[in-house]
Amino acid sequence: MSKNPATAFEQLQTILGKVSDLSSASALLSWDQQTGMPPRGAAARGQVLATLSETIHGMITAPEVAKLLAEAGAKPRLSRDEKAWLREATWANERACKLPASLVRELSLAEAQAFEDWQRAKAAQKFALFSPSLKKLVALARQKAECFGYAETPWDALAQDFERGTSAARVTKLFSPLRDATVDLLAKIRNAKPVDSSCLTGKWPLDAQREFGMRVARDIGYDFNAGRLDVSSHPFSTTITAGDHRITTRYAESNLLDALGSIIHECGHALYEQGFNIKDARGPLYEAPSLGVHESQSRFWEVRIGQSLPFWRHYHPIIRQYFPGRFDDVTAEQLYAAVNQVEPDFIRVEADEITYNLHIIIRFELEVAILSGELSVDDIPAAWNEKYARYLGITVPNDAKGCLQDVHWAYGAFGYFPSYTLGNIYSAMLVEKLEADVKGLWKGIERGDFGAALSWLRENIHTHGRRMPAEELVKQATGRAPTVEPLIKYLRKKYGSIYGVR
Ligand code: ZN
Repeated sequence: MSKNPATAFEQLQTILGKVSDLSSASALLSWDQQTGMPPRGAAARGQVLATLSETIHGMITAPEVAKLLAEAGAKPRLSRDEKAWLREATWANERACKLPASLVRELSLAEAQAFEDWQRAKAAQKFALFSPSLKKLVALARQKAECFGYAETPWDALAQDFERGTSAARVTKLFSPLRDATVDLLAKIRNAKPVDSSCLTGKWPLDAQREFGMRVARDIGYDFNAGRLDVSSHPFSTTITAGDHRITTRYAESNLLDALGSIIHECGHALYEQGFNIKDARGPLYEAPSLGVHESQSRFWEVRIGQSLPFWRHYHPIIRQYFPGRFDDVTAEQLYAAVNQVEPDFIRVEADEITYNLHIIIRFELEVAILSGELSVDDIPAAWNEKYARYLGITVPNDAKGCLQDVHWAYGAFGYFPSYTLGNIYSAMLVEKLEADVKGLWKGIERGDFGAALSWLRENIHTHGRRMPAEELVKQATGRAPTVEPLIKYLRKKYGSIYGVR
């Protein structure tokens, strides 16, 4: 062990570089597990991934790492980048050290059991089959929160893994006005004349869907020499190493927009990581500061660009080449309206842009109450259904279409859901600033020029990696502290014009 701070820094870089290499191996094995692994390899693959994850955990929590971190931190005149690097390495080390190995094991066993019970309960449409294992998970999540520590409510401790620096109080402050504005707008839309989405019905050849999706991915700047597109049952994006940022989608003959939306969404995540600074590779800064910021990039491309009128004006003549005869009697404006149809429904992953945030807000409100003990696990279905009636105006027919639809809680992931809506909030803030900085932005999009938007995001978001906490990064990029006002303003304007409501 060295007492020389410079050497301590180098030793840490070597250790975390190896951690990153093992994480790359793990990411590639997981990608393969979801895209091409023969089914009979599943059990053995699980073992390999568990060994890698234990090895990584052991390397990060080794006593030597904490000592080296203290030594390296003692170096006089640390640069800004070195400080950020050490801050992130220290956080990873301390966070991992706070959980006793026995609790980690107990959690992973409980999660495996909960996942099985959740599948059974969902198939039977009976929450009661899932509630015993969910109770166990909630108890363990509370223990986990105690290990990490928190100021106000256990939810705060758990959310740090996804959105560091946030709290239930901060999220509530952003979400409440959004919820009220959305419920109000939704009521007006439901009384308005529905949009005609008949041009999107029928069957859509899979080859043409794939070709068109790849064309759009390439147009918006996704580099296929540093990535690839495959099929998986749940679309995702993953970075294996620098220069290898992959995406997946799924195709359904009956749904043109599902695969396309997923491709653009996952492209947004991958464009972000293709834009990280190469000098940060194999270290803790080669990451997004939070899932909310990551989601701001995917939602930017999927929704703000991919569901905009200029985008569909550009692609209207092009999509007609991929699906001959299908859009001959449809204008770009009609296609745009059909893409943006609003329809309150039960399933989050199928929701439109307006109701999506309500699905998230409901989950957030419930999980804060569950973790604080205010709501008992047995009362979840009733509380869930009551909120769907109140916010979305719909009656949930059964638990499978209600509180059993998402897998997150069965994985013990409490605190994850808000990332989706935080992404929409950040994205709306970024668009406002982008519009101010890039004159003629939307005229450019209409011509198929996406480069100005991508360059702006590269400079203001991507290249910084994890140098700053999420809120600081957003503030530096937009000049404002996180606010929901740009999102509300945008939703009112866009849907006010599509549905003719004010
Ligand atoms: Zn995403």
